[in-house]
Amino acid sequence: MYDLIIIGGGPAGAAAAVYAARKRIKTLMIVEEWGGQSTVSTEVQNWIGTPSISGMDLANALKNHVLAYAGEFLTVQSPDSASAIAAHDDRVEVTTHKDTYKAKAALVVSGASRRKLDVKGAKEYDQKGLTYCASCDGPLFADKDVAVIGGGNAGFETALQLLAYCKSVTLLSRGTAFRADAITVEAAKANPKMRIVLNAIPTEVFGDPPAGGFVKGLKFKHLDTGEEETLDVEGIFVEIGLIPNTAWLGSAVELTPFKQIKVDPKTQRTSHPRIWAAGDVADGLYHQNNIAAGDAVKALEDIYMYLRRS
Ligand SMILES: Cc1cc2nc3c(=O)[nH]c(=O)nc-3n(C[C@H](O)[C@H](O)[C@H](O)COP(=O)(O)OP(=O)(O)OC[C@H]3O[C@@H](n4cnc5c(N)ncnc54)[C@H](O)[C@@H]3O)c2cc1C
Repeated sequence: MYDLIIIGGGPAGAAAAVYAARKRIKTLMIVEEWGGQSTVSTEVQNWIGTPSISGMDLANALKNHVLAYAGEFLTVQSPDSASAIAAHDDRVEVTTHKDTYKAKAALVVSGASRRKLDVKGAKEYDQKGLTYCASCDGPLFADKDVAVIGGGNAGFETALQLLAYCKSVTLLSRGTAFRADAITVEAAKANPKMRIVLNAIPTEVFGDPPAGGFVKGLKFKHLDTGEEETLDVEGIFVEIGLIPNTAWLGSAVELTPFKQIKVDPKTQRTSHPRIWAAGDVADGLYHQNNIAAGDAVKALEDIYMYLRRS
């Protein structure tokens, strides 16, 4: 029986594991893949204390930091992935592809996956001009024409961020009405560099040279007229949703309608007294590496107090 099982090996999981080992909590960490979502980034410029690091180097740094503490108190199982969790009054049981493990508490940090754009060319130009994170990659497109796909709050907030330094921003929304907060929409509309196209769906991402190069543009269709238009843009920012990795949890904890885990932001506790959650899998408003790591540390501090009391 462990004291704690941590599920996930992104910034949240790594931060929690280091803190758990240092507090001598008997912990099992289950990691499908090290590093989390920003592993695919060519450059992460806002991991505090590190002006610039590739996503892969960040993943390795997180892994090495955790493995430096593996031993008597911390067992790391990777690659493995949790497929189910059963929460009881006196314990939790986490089932993986290898076995079922028991603990007094569990911390779910299984993160999220971006909903990917599914049109011709999107896969080929992923991370070659087509990106899923404006805070991470936006500044690389300073003084360039860019497009944003997605008309919700994330799309409009991305557009506002890009308007600060891009030459022009065209936002495509498939709906006929704005889905973002009015104040955000108004701020975007007021900027002369902004163009908003409602009722439009992307049909193709293309580049130069046709394969293996970088994005040169985007084709989209006006749904009301059927007319196709081509945009010459060097950056495409996709904000069509985040899918939290919560399917494996079943009904163990309460989820929001968007399938994020509901947590108390002061403690990261979920609806089950033995389960905590942090990072992109939880229902926090903002999703960044530093936030995920910080919230996981907060959870760990609370778990530590809980274990000491029980
Ligand atoms: C392309 C891209 C670039 C980004 N760049 C930046 C950036 O530059 N700066 C920044 O601050 N933020 C960036 N972000 C956002 C940032 O990556 C996330 O906010 C952060 O990774 C969240 O960390 P997390 O640990 O909560 O979850 P994740 O990073 O999603 O990690 C989840 C972990 O859990 C594992 N896992 C999932 N399911 C299971 C399971 N069932 N069993 C075991 N393990 C499981 C995964 O393999 C992974 O290790 C970027 C996001 C994307 C998509």
